[in-house]
Amino acid sequence: MEKQAGQAGLQHRLLNGVIWLTDRHAKLMNMERIGIGSKAEEEFLDALMMWNALEFTLRFVYPEYQGCSLGEGRHCQNATPVSCRSCGGLGDKDVADAHH
Ligand SMILES: [Zn+2]
Repeated sequence: MEKQAGQAGLQHRLLNGVIWLTDRHAKLMNMERIGIGSKAEEEFLDALMMWNALEFTLRFVYPEYQGCSLGEGRHCQNATPVSCRSCGGLGDKDVADAHH
């Protein structure tokens, strides 16, 4: 697989991150009480912060890019734990939503 750099590389990482976060979030919800305070939850929160930092980096380094952080022509889904600034994500609402 070709290693992507720059803007495309960041978008690729963000897309993979959303897939991972969505999967882990679903698992945490299934674990219920056991999920809270667990290693799995800690990893989820770390990844969430990493995702937001990556998204911030994309916006900071490539301010001319106004599209979805996941890539040109993509759009963040409502069902995912995170959404980019372009699609209306506020960043930290995601953390509050992590524990329904
Ligand atoms: Zn988006």
